[in-house]
Amino acid sequence: MRQSARLVAAALASLAIVAALSYAEGLSGQNPALALLSTALAGIVAGVLVREALAAAVGAGIGSLAGHGIAFTQGLLLWNPLAQQDIVVFRVMLSALTVVIAAGGGFLLRPRAVQQEEIGAGEEVPPQKSCPECGSVVPSEAIYCPMCGRKLEEIES
Ligand SMILES: [Zn+2]
Repeated sequence: MRQSARLVAAALASLAIVAALSYAEGLSGQNPALALLSTALAGIVAGVLVREALAAAVGAGIGSLAGHGIAFTQGLLLWNPLAQQDIVVFRVMLSALTVVIAAGGGFLLRPRAVQQEEIGAGEEVPPQKSCPECGSVVPSEAIYCPMCGRKLEEIES
């Protein structure tokens, strides 16, 4: 998947989950567990879909904020034990949590090739050849074998 498609997928997944569960929260009377579940689900789905930490975080952030925005303007109440009012700060905090979860998921699930690229970065493997006399692996520019001393300059690598 291309980067932009991944970002859109993460945003849409987060949006759908947050909007759907905000709606459920509104129906069920501001259940804090549902709010946390929606955040976790949006982040996990974004991370799994995108498999790239930064795109997952950005997509989940956009989707989560949009979902909370829709829920807020539709009058769907999020958890508030003290009053029948929505808590905007709590929605923003949940969106931030979604971003963190998505980034973590994207980081853990990123393609194996990228992981190995990061691990192997800076470790240039020099071209090598093997000594026909003793079998030692020696640098291809070596003139004499460091193990047995045989002259190597005419050997093809
Ligand atoms: Zn040798």
